[in-house]
This record gives sequence, C-alpha cells and structure tokens, in this order.
Amino acid sequence: MLKKTTSLVICKSPEEIDIMKKSGRILAELFEELHGLVKPGITTADIDSFAEEFIISQGANPSFKGLYGFPASACVSVNNEVVHGIPGNKRLAEGDIVGIDLGAQVEGFHCDSARTFPVGRISKEAMDLIRTTEESLYKGIEQARIGKRIADISRAIQSYVESRGFSIVKALSGHGVGRNLHEEPMIPNFVIRGEPGPVLAEGMTLAIEPMVNAGEPGIKTLKDNWTIVTSDGSFSAHYEHTIAVTREGPVILTAL
Ligand code: MG
Ligand code: MG
Repeated sequence: MLKKTTSLVICKSPEEIDIMKKSGRILAELFEELHGLVKPGITTADIDSFAEEFIISQGANPSFKGLYGFPASACVSVNNEVVHGIPGNKRLAEGDIVGIDLGAQVEGFHCDSARTFPVGRISKEAMDLIRTTEESLYKGIEQARIGKRIADISRAIQSYVESRGFSIVKALSGHGVGRNLHEEPMIPNFVIRGEPGPVLAEGMTLAIEPMVNAGEPGIKTLKDNWTIVTSDGSFSAHYEHTIAVTREGPVILTAL
C-alpha cells in the first residue's frame, strides 16, 4: 500500500498558493459552522448536506463527491470508524465522536481538511484521543520546513501519538494536494526505515492527516467498500490540514 515516493512532487507558485487559500478558508469557516451543528440527534447525512450546501454557496466544488465513486461531499466517520464513512441515516448520540473530512475546490485547486468532534459529553479517554490526534497534527506541521524530509513530519506525529499511549493507523497516509486532491508525495504518519521521503521544498502543498486509534493500530474495510473501521472496535480520531511549505515556514491553508 505504501509505495516509494518519487520526485513527481508538484510545487506551487505563490499565486497558486493564494488560490488554494480560498478553498482552505471555505473549509475552515465550514468547520466553525459545524461546531454548532454537531450534537446528539442529528444524522451523518445532515452533516453531509449542510457541508455540501455551504461549499457550493461559497462558489466552490465539493472535492469528494464522485471522487473514485464516493457518493457524498463529506466523509463522516463515527466512533470506531477511522475514515471514509458514508453519510446516511445514522443518528449521533451523546458520547459519540465524529470525524468529518472535507475537500473543496476553487479555481482548479483543492484543499483537504478533517476534524473530529465530540457529540455532547464524551469520556475522558475519547477526549484525550481527540486532543492527542489534533496535537500530533501540529507537531507534524511544525516539521514542514524547507530542507527537512517527509520522514521528519512522520516521526514527529508518531512519537507524540505513541508517547500518549495511542496507536497510529499505518495503512493510510497523508498526501500532496493541488490540482488533484491526491498528489505525490505520500506522507505516512510513522517512520518507514530506509524511506525518508523527498526533501521538502518551497511551494510544496501537503495534506497532513494523522489517524489515531485508541486501541490496536489495525483496520479493516466494511462491506460497503468505503468505511474503514478499527479491527478491535476501539475509537479512532482524525485531523487534517492542508499546508504550504514556504520560506517563512509552514503556512496552514485550512485555518482561519
Ligand atoms: Mg481529507
Ligand atoms: Mg487527505
């Protein structure tokens, strides 16, 4: 599943990064709106329709709809679902956690971002899982500097997550993003010995996205061929930002 990264990384000009900031801002604003929407009683389809309407109302296209055949604009993954949950009539309940993954395209360029929300009051362990996942993302972003390697991002995420007693999902990874939602390079959330990945260069735009399980790291795919769940049934959390590597350091495109 993890292939060797090549030199086919597409670096973006400052003007192209400015375009990507537009779709990134739409996603950041949408996540702020979702804070108010996510509560016990709503369905995962409610989240999807709100997200789709918001993205379109801002003059953007939902990146995920139809991509590889995905049927919705948001991936909505509840509790033991890691990523790629298909929105439907599942109703959120107090104590659930819900990962929402969104993409938007403006003027030909995509941004990709995900967050995990608590539904009402959740357990302390679930809150620790969410916080650790978010913090590990920022540890990774901090490494996204000219001259460093992809593995420096991977190492920062992995060491933080494992120091907190949680486990990294290894079969899925982050990626470059731009005119295509998924571009080179792959950004694993753990270090692969002997594969440091490309050297980071000015203009690289990267979707960094730790997926973290409360229990064992294993995952499996459900019969719908999309939804990925933890193999042991434990909760899983997901955070993602699209960032640009610049001379001034990493710039998060999907934050306000
Ligand atoms: Mg995503
Ligand atoms: Mg992504």
